[in-house]
Amino acid sequence: MVDLSDAPVIDTHLHGWRTSELLDAPAAGFADRVTMLGMCVLTSGGDPAEFSDVLARATATTPLALALLARLGEQLGCEPTNEAVGAARLERLRADATGYLQELWRDARIEGLVVDEGFPLPIIPSADLEREAGIPVHRVVRIEPWIAEQRDAAEGYDELEDALSAHLEAAAAEGAVAFKSVIAYRTGLDITHPSPADARGAFTRWRQDSFRETRGHAKPVRDRLLERTLEVASASGVPVHIHSGGGDPDSLVPHARPAGLFDLLKRHPHQPVLLIHAGWPWTDEAAFMASILPHVYLDLSIGIPWGSLAIDRLIETALGLAPPSKVLYGSDEASEPEVAWFAAHVAREALERVLSTGVERRWLTPAQATVIGNDVLAGNCRRLHGIAA
Ligand SMILES: [Zn+2]
Repeated sequence: MVDLSDAPVIDTHLHGWRTSELLDAPAAGFADRVTMLGMCVLTSGGDPAEFSDVLARATATTPLALALLARLGEQLGCEPTNEAVGAARLERLRADATGYLQELWRDARIEGLVVDEGFPLPIIPSADLEREAGIPVHRVVRIEPWIAEQRDAAEGYDELEDALSAHLEAAAAEGAVAFKSVIAYRTGLDITHPSPADARGAFTRWRQDSFRETRGHAKPVRDRLLERTLEVASASGVPVHIHSGGGDPDSLVPHARPAGLFDLLKRHPHQPVLLIHAGWPWTDEAAFMASILPHVYLDLSIGIPWGSLAIDRLIETALGLAPPSKVLYGSDEASEPEVAWFAAHVAREALERVLSTGVERRWLTPAQATVIGNDVLAGNCRRLHGIAA
């Protein structure tokens, strides 16, 4: 009933890649690498070989892997097996990586990528990625790699904070569309409100502790720097992306619930903050906060595409609880660029199903539902980040 087949897509959250690394990765591991489990083993520094039995068994029945192989096999004109798809895509990447990817972007109507440059490291310059991907790339600057680089040289907390402010101001002036924090991977998302004196004392102790990532010494420093990031973003006119919810095994899952951000968000009611991953798997919590705080937004990545059979539920929750004008599509592709293509397709189809149900149940007219679908796939992201159509 609701047809979004022509709706353009901007991917609000994903990560860059190097074509040379795509070519070097073993073809046999392709299907494992696109599953949540396989990808998380890699991104948290594990060795897939150590878990080969369990990965093989899991991948063989994981809907995401099966659907991706089926769809990519169809796109490439080969059998939907790991071997055939792994070989066919490698052949295309070797022959003309940019041309291959541009075919995928056109097929899924993807018009732009909002790329978190904090993973992988070292940073892939956005101009390089844009050239390799053959599509506009919009840069998101992550604060944690910068803090790790600069903390040794800083005299004390104040110098670190001033330098971070200058770094972020310069990045915004150079065209970065957002700042990003993954504090849930460092000291937790339950953000406190330390005074400048607390932060100064904690920085001294943190340094004496060789910058170990403890909640005692590191946390007051990181919490205060995140607060400062929101202030600089406000002055620079850019949104802040904050990882919310669980991530790979390096995230502090016991301290990753989105409600931990509530006080911080309440202190900055006019600063747009995009909750990356919509607090997945605690989406209800994040969607509820977006329903009561004017400038809190939701990014649907991780749940899309890895939630597979649960994607419709995710979209129902986000669009039902939060204003649809604050819900943004993202893929969180972080291993193979085909995931961004696949995610755009499954998001479009899930949005069509959920919005069609909304029409059937007389919440929306078909025209209203179509506007919402287009906004979630691209319009809301363009508006929030100032990305022209
Ligand atoms: Zn990500």
